[in-house]
Amino acid sequence: MVYTSLHSPQDRDYQYQLNLAHLYGDLLNTYGDNGNILMMKYVGEKLGAEVTVDIVSIGDHFDNNHYDIVFFGGGQDYEQSIVAKDLPTKKETIDQFIQDHKVILAICGGFQLLGQYYIQANGVKINGIGVMGHYTLNQDNNRFIGDIKIHNDTFNETYYGFENHQGRTFLSDDEKPLGRVIYGNGNNEKDDSEGVHYKNVYGSYFHGPILSRNANLAYRLVTTALKNKYGQDLILPSYDDILSLETPEEYVDVKSKATVED
Ligand code: GLN
Repeated sequence: MVYTSLHSPQDRDYQYQLNLAHLYGDLLNTYGDNGNILMMKYVGEKLGAEVTVDIVSIGDHFDNNHYDIVFFGGGQDYEQSIVAKDLPTKKETIDQFIQDHKVILAICGGFQLLGQYYIQANGVKINGIGVMGHYTLNQDNNRFIGDIKIHNDTFNETYYGFENHQGRTFLSDDEKPLGRVIYGNGNNEKDDSEGVHYKNVYGSYFHGPILSRNANLAYRLVTTALKNKYGQDLILPSYDDILSLETPEEYVDVKSKATVED
C-alpha cells in the first residue's frame, strides 16, 4: 500500500505542487538519508511548492506520471536482497520516468540497485533493476568508510559527504560520474569517479545526508523537477534568494540575547 509519510503545511498558499516517491522507504533508510527528503521538501516550500511524500514499496504500483521526484535510499545487503525481488515489477515505469528526464536521487544501495547487478559482501549476486548501465562488485573483507569530497566539472560545484559501502561500482560508457574524487574513495579504487549523473538521475555513495550538506545540489534537483513540470521557462527565486548562507538578523539578535541572559 502506498502511504503518505510527509506533507507540506496546509495553511499556506502554494503556486506549485511536487509529488515525491520514496522508493522502498520502509526497507532502505539507513544513515539518516531520509534527511534528503526533508531537504527537498524544505527547498520546494521555499520555492513556493507544496510537497507530498509517499512511500512506494513492495507490491505497490509506481505511477511514473504522478511523481515528479524519486528518492531511493541505501540499506544493508539483506534489505537490498528483498527489494531486488520486487524491483522487476516496477522496471517499466521507473525506466519511463528516467527516459522522461524526471529527477531521481539514489544513494548507495539505491544507486547500486538501479544498475545491472550488485555482488553482496558474502559473494552472492543480486540483480539490479537494469535501467542503467553500471554494475557493482564486492571487495574482500573491506569497506570504504570516511569523509569524501568531489568536484563536478560540468556544474563547477564541489560536494562533501561521508561514504560507507562495501560495493565497488563501475560506470558504463553512457554514464558520467557525479564528480571527480578530491579525497576519499568514491565508486571504486580505479577511476576516481564518485556516483553517477545520467539524464536527471543523480546517484551517489554520500551519506550525510548529501542534500543537507550540499544545498547547491538540492536546489538543482528541486528546480529541475519544477521546470520539468511547469515549463523550462519558469522563473524561480535564485539559490542566493532562498538558501543564502548569511545568518538572518533575527537569529543573531536571539543568539546574542541568549548569551547575555545566560
Ligand atoms: N549494502 C551496500 C554496501 O555495503 C550499500 C550500503 C549502503 O547503502 N550504505 O555497499
